[in-house]
Amino acid sequence: MEKKINLLQNWLEKEQAEVAFITNPENIAYFAGFHSDPHERVLGLAVFSNETPFLFTPGLEVEEAKRSGFNHAIYGYSDTENPFEIITQQIQNRAKSITKIAIEKSHMNVGYYEQLAKSFPNANFIDIENKIQMTRLVKTKDEIKILKEAALLADEAIQIGINEIAAGKTEAEIVAKIDYEMRKKGVSGMSFETMVLTGKNGASPHGTPGDTQIQKGDFVLFDLGVVHKGYCSDTTRTIAFGEISTQQKEIYDTVLKAQLAAIEKVKAGAKAKEIDLAARKIIRDSGYGDYFPHRLGHGLGMGVHEFPSITETNEMLLTENMVFTIEPGIYVPGVAGVRIEDDIVVTENGYEILTEFPKELQYV
Ligand code: MN
Ligand code: MN
Repeated sequence: MEKKINLLQNWLEKEQAEVAFITNPENIAYFAGFHSDPHERVLGLAVFSNETPFLFTPGLEVEEAKRSGFNHAIYGYSDTENPFEIITQQIQNRAKSITKIAIEKSHMNVGYYEQLAKSFPNANFIDIENKIQMTRLVKTKDEIKILKEAALLADEAIQIGINEIAAGKTEAEIVAKIDYEMRKKGVSGMSFETMVLTGKNGASPHGTPGDTQIQKGDFVLFDLGVVHKGYCSDTTRTIAFGEISTQQKEIYDTVLKAQLAAIEKVKAGAKAKEIDLAARKIIRDSGYGDYFPHRLGHGLGMGVHEFPSITETNEMLLTENMVFTIEPGIYVPGVAGVRIEDDIVVTENGYEILTEFPKELQYV
């Protein structure tokens, strides 16, 4: 934990910013080891270039925060106190003159920003988001071990879903079963709302499961992940229910071929765009280019969407121990929606696939 905070301190020094006030709960969990969803209350981590950091939490969470292992000051506030009075006071106790404050500009809300701006009228605000994303980008061995466990739990969740496939069953019923069984296994939550899509809904990349019933001749698409020890998994499998058409099969085979080709390109030193283009070329050459409307993948860690973004224009060089998804899809309205998604770790000479569920087309 100290090492991670030191990285921020060095960056603050270089940027000549006296303090960073971090409010994104994921980033606080990453740097302070304290996992918490503060809802509408204020949760913040203040890191200083030359002073010791402090954690600021709702009063009712102070004891929990102490147990998390954060070994610097922790301050709480009651529901009748103004949290920013305390935060301002503690910042002033550590740094006399504040000229630059680093914040996550895409996360901090305007209300918090205005409070800080009022307390520190001479301060400029700079964005720390990119620095944090780049720090979180490369995983440690410990993080990869947890991500592997999370991936295997997601594999189990896919099997639970497949076992539920039956004519007339609704998407929502299967979602409920998957989430219930995973909770019983002890996951702290799903990393996003579990997606089970079939029939027409399957052709919408980010559809919402509802009362659509599964019918023979349709695909059933499962996109899900769990949160395990603070880390997320994210996997997709598409299953055939009964006989499917030649075109449905062709779409499945094309997505699988694209996914395997992209994975083969993964290694330290490759560019992110090379991975995307390996899959995209296969899908374009097969005539389905217009039906693959999203990037190939995204980084994965404490957040379900992190860096690197695997797009056809991202020049970022992959390095060992980056973790991301590879998830090509083809969505043809009225015909089929197919996506296949795995979680991948970059290794020195190639890759390791964290999710292990088979990808050969399964018929139920
Ligand atoms: Mn997914
Ligand atoms: Mn994904």
